[in-house]
Amino acid sequence: MRELSLYIHFPYCLYKCHYCDFNSYVVKDSSSLQMPYIEALLQELKVAKRNFSLQSFKTIFLGGGTPSLFEPKNIGALLKGIEAELGIAPQAEITLEANPKTLSREKIRDYLATGVNRFSMGVQSFQDRFLTPLGRLHTGKEAIQALSLLEEEAQNFSFDLMFGFPEQSLSDLKEDLSWIDRFNAKHLSFYNLTLEEGTIFAEQYRKGKLKLLESDLQAQMYETGIQLLQDKGYSLYEISNFSKPGLESRHNLNYWNYGDYLGLGAGAVSFLSRTFLGANACIPQEKDLYGFRWTNAKAPETYLQGAGKDCSQHSWEKISSAIAQKEFWMMGLRLKEGVSIEKFEKRFGPGSYKPYSGIVESLLRNNWIEHSEDRIRLHPKGQLLANEVIASFFI
Ligand code: SF4
Repeated sequence: MRELSLYIHFPYCLYKCHYCDFNSYVVKDSSSLQMPYIEALLQELKVAKRNFSLQSFKTIFLGGGTPSLFEPKNIGALLKGIEAELGIAPQAEITLEANPKTLSREKIRDYLATGVNRFSMGVQSFQDRFLTPLGRLHTGKEAIQALSLLEEEAQNFSFDLMFGFPEQSLSDLKEDLSWIDRFNAKHLSFYNLTLEEGTIFAEQYRKGKLKLLESDLQAQMYETGIQLLQDKGYSLYEISNFSKPGLESRHNLNYWNYGDYLGLGAGAVSFLSRTFLGANACIPQEKDLYGFRWTNAKAPETYLQGAGKDCSQHSWEKISSAIAQKEFWMMGLRLKEGVSIEKFEKRFGPGSYKPYSGIVESLLRNNWIEHSEDRIRLHPKGQLLANEVIASFFI
């Protein structure tokens, strides 16, 4: 049977970063909200267990929002509840997203004692002159302190760096990247600032108060980052993600390999193929059904009122086999190793690759993708045009 992952969304943050369009809500003090939220998550899991054919989880990702606002004892209660309800596979990867403002040595130790075995910290930059306009609450110094604590206490941690800030130069980027030598992070996410609708940045841009970098400079930054990170011993395994050998994020690999996952919490998305759907009243059983994707109510209050009562609060999206094939390309092409034709046909049936061979041929002619042995992957030239390449499969 295929692997099953669990994503749990924690929607609260201490502040709203200016670029952020995640489902997050500012709360000054979350202490009274924590246990009711954990209880709702466990209730939702109980109902999911009743409705679907689930099994123990191979990876769990506690994401947000800011999960590290939640006290370790509450995270412990959640993980115990999951273990009791469906089980957590031995050697499961259990990641907690953390904000530098919320970590202490004691807290890291207490999280580790609950079963969390991987941390992912949002840093974005080590320079205050970029952190402040980004709307981050922490300083560069606080990020360094928090990473030092993770280095001392945790075996496995990752952190996020961003590039393409307004007014950032190539040497500013190199300065941020130079901090990487200081920590023994096993994994790094390195991604481009993008302008998302509904964010403070989008509003500033609309009013002419925010000037974005030229796309050529952003492309140069991406290439510089890839080169520097590879020189430091990190392998690029996905468009924005790097790891030390064998320490890729197993949870995110499951997404990119078009795997199944259950999502719990406000605004969380779930995606289950027929293997895990079972027979239940929420889902119409249709002929060419590959699976279903659904999204929980976004607002925490609405989620808390409805959690686990029935399926009505979800918005359901049927995934036919034709859609699944395109999404498989979309996710797989993000990976350095690309898409295996053999795996594609194993998933979608003999001959299922054939209708895509024309698209592949034309992308090969443009040097946007490469084809070697069984795999089709982005050409280095195509990495900067990943969205255009992927869009070709949706025509
Ligand atoms: S801490 Fe993360 S989730 Fe919260 S507002 Fe900032 S980017 Fe968004």
